[in-house]
Amino acid sequence: MKGHVPRKRFGQNFLVSPGVVAKIVEAIRPQANDVVVEIGPGLGALTEPLLARLAHLHAIEIDRDLIARLRERFPADRLAIHEGDALQFGFSGLGPALRVVGNLPYNISTPLLFHLAACAERVRDMHFMLQREVVERMVAAPGGSEYGRLSVMLQYRFEMERLFLVPPGAFNPAPKVESAVVRMIPRPRAALAATDEALLGEIVKSAFAQRRKMLRNTLRERLSEADWAALGIVPTRRAEELAVGDYVRIANRLAEAGITSSSSRS
Ligand code: SAM
Repeated sequence: MKGHVPRKRFGQNFLVSPGVVAKIVEAIRPQANDVVVEIGPGLGALTEPLLARLAHLHAIEIDRDLIARLRERFPADRLAIHEGDALQFGFSGLGPALRVVGNLPYNISTPLLFHLAACAERVRDMHFMLQREVVERMVAAPGGSEYGRLSVMLQYRFEMERLFLVPPGAFNPAPKVESAVVRMIPRPRAALAATDEALLGEIVKSAFAQRRKMLRNTLRERLSEADWAALGIVPTRRAEELAVGDYVRIANRLAEAGITSSSSRS
């Protein structure tokens, strides 16, 4: 690591296991002309093997000290470094069929996943290292305590697969928790489309805000008993029992009735 002191506030846990790095790159299968962006290249553990296979790579990094090191190590015509916060980055601008990869800073992983979901249309696939617990929530099926807002909103947009687990010892400094690598592929729009996605987001948020309560109560202000009957959903069920498609049907029924999301009203 030669002198770089890992910064906790930037979620810096650097990959130091060549075996894990190789497994991630193999899962990504980069082809020379793919348009790839790496979030948080850090000290270049993934950047180097990716660049060995790619003609060009984009990277977004917030830590200026690390950016200086990366600039010394990789030529600018091969590695385009976008200095700044990935949460503010306009991923859509990098082109269609974008491939997004990264050993993500765990402290911002959830907002980052929501930010990326908003530009899924321009994305071909994404491969991320995340906390194992977050990955389990992302891929969780209805019925269990891991199934929540993150599961519904991401499964609405992506097919997701947990690829493999990574132990704390693969990083320096070692995090306290296990990690996992996940693959996310945007779903074709047609199968499961909400007419008003912001409204879908609001309903899912309200439903899971009090996940132990009956939907009849948590969504009282939006749905009547007649609505529940027409949807064929028993209103004494709880948020974690509904499938993604049920939430889409709820949102679409409200949209048909002329109800809009609060964002589209402002
Ligand atoms: N890819 C490297 C590796 O695998 O060893 C570093 C991974 S480390 C877990 C996360 C990286 O993301 C760090 O380099 C950190 O500085 C960077 N980072 C943290 N917050 C960021 C943000 N908001 N935007 C862009 N990069 C960020």
